[in-house]
Amino acid sequence: MLNTLQKELNQIINRGFDRNLRLAVTGLSRSGKTAFITSLINQLLSVNQTSPNHLPLFEAARNGSILAVKRVPQNDFSVPRFDYEANLNDLLQRPPHWCRSTRGVSETRLAIRFQRQSGLLRHVKERGTLYLDIFDYPGEWLLDLPLLNLDFQQWSLEQHQITQGVRAELAQPWLAALKKLDLNAVANEDVLAKLAKSYTDYLHQCKEQGMQFIQPGRFVLPGELEGAPALQFFPLVHVSEADWKRLKKDAKSNSYFALLTKRYDYYRNKVVKGFYEQYFSTFDRQVILADCLTPLNHGRQAFLDMQAGLNGLFKNFHYGSRNFLTRLFSPRIDKLMFIATKADHITSDQMPNLVSLMRQLVQEGGRHAEFAGIDTEYVAIAAIRATKQVIVNQNGKQIKAIQGVRSKDKQLITLYPGSVPSKLPNQEFWQKRANFGGENGTGVHFEFDHFEPQPLEQGDVIPHLRIDAVLQFLLGDRFE
Ligand code: GDP
Repeated sequence: MLNTLQKELNQIINRGFDRNLRLAVTGLSRSGKTAFITSLINQLLSVNQTSPNHLPLFEAARNGSILAVKRVPQNDFSVPRFDYEANLNDLLQRPPHWCRSTRGVSETRLAIRFQRQSGLLRHVKERGTLYLDIFDYPGEWLLDLPLLNLDFQQWSLEQHQITQGVRAELAQPWLAALKKLDLNAVANEDVLAKLAKSYTDYLHQCKEQGMQFIQPGRFVLPGELEGAPALQFFPLVHVSEADWKRLKKDAKSNSYFALLTKRYDYYRNKVVKGFYEQYFSTFDRQVILADCLTPLNHGRQAFLDMQAGLNGLFKNFHYGSRNFLTRLFSPRIDKLMFIATKADHITSDQMPNLVSLMRQLVQEGGRHAEFAGIDTEYVAIAAIRATKQVIVNQNGKQIKAIQGVRSKDKQLITLYPGSVPSKLPNQEFWQKRANFGGENGTGVHFEFDHFEPQPLEQGDVIPHLRIDAVLQFLLGDRFE
């Protein structure tokens, strides 16, 4: 009798403990989103399978609160499923290889059975399930948010950088064709498609050159909109203010000008806004990943470009009037984590510098210390650790170094990658670096390399650095 009562009481209480958390993961291309989510799922699925525990900083894993974790079907059938199995399979190959990067949105759902360690009713086992929805989307899509505030003319004007420097060189074929287009003429969809392709090619080339500020972001990562007319427009960078006036007044509704304007408006109101309305307002917590090391390796221009791109992302979360994300979509995000990825490229003593550099990048050198009422944290991690930390003896001195299989020649190498600046690098920093052997030269005082993932056996947990700190910050309170 007592037993039955106890059971019923348990059931009632447990029902009350089922929880849901929607976690969004973003970052610019190749920042490490796919690797991060793959590893996060793998770590959680293996919580109780390894000894000693591989997540010492994640309290719920350490104290046995988590009973079991499994993947369950996601709620939203219209969003592609995150392909965890394929990604894990890539790592299980001989030799292992990196998984395919994020191309659009994807979603996955984990059910985490847990038991509370402390509770009001000590005799009642308080058990519950945390349903964790992980949602992956390209950071490039966040760069489009400012478009909501700009009409076609204003946006075209903002793209003036196309007519300068390297961008002008890359944009030359498109610009030349654009200048020949009579914007008053009756629009031919085929001509528009070709010109839009030329503009998209230019954006892809910018991306290949390491530039991060790319607009419209969907053009390079179209997701399900590949080939759609919604992505077939471009900025009219060559039109003077007087001509804008004239075109707005005189151009016929079937002209190139009218069609381009319509497509821009559709992109802005349906594609960009739609993404925020459909998804963004539903997120509980947001993770933003950034690879700060690769651009540091490529020199000043790449670094500044990354900074511009990241600021485009970060400013969406900044506190204050600039934050029209909050004004428009009132997201309910209560925790925000900035993660510097690929920290296995550096020695462990450099980790604090990497975190500090990340913090400076986010805060634009300290100008924006606050994010609207959101609990914010910064961390450096390696989602899939490709190197080992070793100590080498150099001229009688013991120094920390890293060892791994270098991607470009598949050789096992040991190297000291050098020191990471703890602040935003200034002119003097780049000058010194150039003096050491030029932006692409050898002998620079730091050099990061790309590595292949370490071999993984079926049933092994993916080696990582500090992903447990991430889990603690993002999920820890849900098990208390
Ligand atoms: P995404 O475009 O943001 O989805 O980026 P990916 O997750 O595909 O990562 C891009 C590339 O970065 C991978 O192919 C790897 O070469 C590298 N990478 C990602 N995470 C790690 C990591 O934890 N350690 C190392 N060494 N490399 C990583």
